[in-house]
Amino acid sequence: MHFDLKSVIRDIPDFPKKGIVFKDITTLLKHPQALNIALQGMAAPFVHSGVNHVVGIESRGFMFGVSAAQTLKCGFVPIRKAGKLPSETYRVDYELEYGTSQLAIHKDAIEPGENVVIMDDLLATGGTMDAAIQLVTQCGGDVVGISCLIELTFLNGRGKLGNIPFHTLIQY
Ligand code: AMP
Repeated sequence: MHFDLKSVIRDIPDFPKKGIVFKDITTLLKHPQALNIALQGMAAPFVHSGVNHVVGIESRGFMFGVSAAQTLKCGFVPIRKAGKLPSETYRVDYELEYGTSQLAIHKDAIEPGENVVIMDDLLATGGTMDAAIQLVTQCGGDVVGISCLIELTFLNGRGKLGNIPFHTLIQY
């Protein structure tokens, strides 16, 4: 069964800032068939990877990550913006287009040696994903895969991910 996922993603020019073309996935999320294909497709490559946890990046990574955790029969671990997680955290600074931001993970969320797959909706420059990899690594976890719905290939975020297997369903 073929379905063109791009047909249910819309471009919003100049959001959240002038010059950025925002890929709006709310139109995909409300389309039952597209949502099913996206959720299954993001998890499928990792069914035999021995994944202990799916790690999802706030906030759109949560939508895909929780579903993938169910498919992979494992649990879910959130990475959030700094200041949101209630227990002890590791924190990493990362570059945004203007200035920096901070992501955080609970220190006890991942045991040393556990295998994780990290998920987000979209890979652009790769700065956010790079920070997430650092957080999992600080916990002692092994990132055995990365899955994003969308890749903006012209920004070459993939170049920041080293040798970690990287999977996307939609490329622009
Ligand atoms: P980056 O750190 O540059 O790879 O940016 C990735 C993060 O920013 C993801 O969490 C995306 O949700 C968000 N993002 C970056 N660029 C876009 C875009 N053009 N459309 C939608 N989301 C974006």
